[in-house]
Amino acid sequence: MPCTRTEIPLRSIPAGDGRVRQKWGLQVGTDRLEIYRGKCPCGAGDVSIVFCTPDHPWPTQSKWFETSISCGSCSKKYSLVEQNKAFVLIEKEEEHAREELWREYLHRSKALLSSPEVGELLQELEGLLEYQPSMAACHRILSAHGLDYYSIGTFRKKWSGASDWIKNNIGVHNLENVMKLLGKGSVVIERELRSLEELYENYKKPFPIIGTPLVDVSNYRD
Ligand SMILES: [Zn+2]
Repeated sequence: MPCTRTEIPLRSIPAGDGRVRQKWGLQVGTDRLEIYRGKCPCGAGDVSIVFCTPDHPWPTQSKWFETSISCGSCSKKYSLVEQNKAFVLIEKEEEHAREELWREYLHRSKALLSSPEVGELLQELEGLLEYQPSMAACHRILSAHGLDYYSIGTFRKKWSGASDWIKNNIGVHNLENVMKLLGKGSVVIERELRSLEELYENYKKPFPIIGTPLVDVSNYRD
């Protein structure tokens, strides 16, 4: 099942914005290394990919890529994205279609979670948890059904009542486990979960790429 991740496929930061970044209250510069330069698909301009790291001696995880397409018509038509550890050119239309899928996924997930059918299930789960004699008993039930992965110590620290726990931990990714725990099935919920899963898979599919991958960036991601 899809998890509730909210990120969209990694996009590069457009070039040209401030060469100086504010870090820990100090002005620091950026080291830039062009790792790819080639012609755009129509041949009138250049495609460039630059690897950036902060120009200071302190350890940091912060590194990023800046990409640009100097050709006006190609920059309208294509996007540069990182996919399978390489930068590739894709149709902008594909990118927009993917963003639309993601919006639909979020919208329908939210709708499902606030539907009366799911509301009833969660009400029942809340009742079951409140009925337990101890936090340890709640933890046992939830862990046994793949709904909690924390140790009992962490679970205790996080616990602030059944209702809060449900609000913070149940989503479309584990709704099926809730149904199993309660021994309840729902054709309506299950059908929508399948459909959401399909939607998510389409969203996560690799983009069809234009030409061949431009540059392998696996070495820059370690
Ligand atoms: Zn071009």
